[in-house]
Amino acid sequence: MFFVDSHCHLNVKKFSQIAGASPKDYSVDGLLMRANSAGVKYVLNIGTELLDIDEMRSISASHGGVFHTIGIHPLEAQRHAQQYSLQDIADILNRNCNGEKLVGIGEIGLDYYYTRESEQEQKKIFELQMDIATKHDFPVVIHSRDAETDTLAILRNHKNARGVIHCFSGSRDFALKALDLGFYISFSGIVTFKNSTAMQRIVGDVPSNRLLVETDAPFLAPDPFRGKINEPAFLVHTAKKIAELRQTTEEQIARLTAENFFDLFSKAKIVGDKN
Ligand SMILES: [Zn+2]
Repeated sequence: MFFVDSHCHLNVKKFSQIAGASPKDYSVDGLLMRANSAGVKYVLNIGTELLDIDEMRSISASHGGVFHTIGIHPLEAQRHAQQYSLQDIADILNRNCNGEKLVGIGEIGLDYYYTRESEQEQKKIFELQMDIATKHDFPVVIHSRDAETDTLAILRNHKNARGVIHCFSGSRDFALKALDLGFYISFSGIVTFKNSTAMQRIVGDVPSNRLLVETDAPFLAPDPFRGKINEPAFLVHTAKKIAELRQTTEEQIARLTAENFFDLFSKAKIVGDKN
């Protein structure tokens, strides 16, 4: 039995942003060693900005069991729009849509939680990345917060798109509509929190062949580590909670979320098989 963490951030910068995370404790080698000991055999390392592309590629190249995506996070959209033209962004992403362990585009989407000030930039950069993903036949990793209607509208504009709604925290209606569009739903450590009762009910509504599990490390550590720095090894606590909510075993959740991961990120399967 093994687990796949379908969404985490292994870059040192993200860990060092969090107070108290010493680079020594959170080296990529350390994180992956602890993940492996906990049964988390594969991780998907998620890009959030153009500047991290080279780092993502080199982490994948030097570590078995690591795949990555590239993309611009919605909360990075405004900064990128100030620094680059849309054409430059498209060129850089298109030029980097290669490499044997690049398996998708993400994380991309819309986030209106803090402010809607950057709504227009977010939408433009999201659409552009949806186009690139479709063109290269890559699945997308979607970040959507307080932006369900607009997210669905853009997904619907891209008929051939496939992907996952990551760190699902939306309404039941959003989940059902995303499932209707063929999307997968990924749950993070939030599902283990006591006050997540609405989300816990949705966990049971996701069909077995569309369910994924993730840490979103270093953010959102599951109980009993809530408030601490998260890491891929903690995935098992989220998987355990999901198993409980779906009245099944952890083994079953490990098996089906791994199968779903390799179905969606089909390029990962090819590379993974060689290892
Ligand atoms: Zn993330």
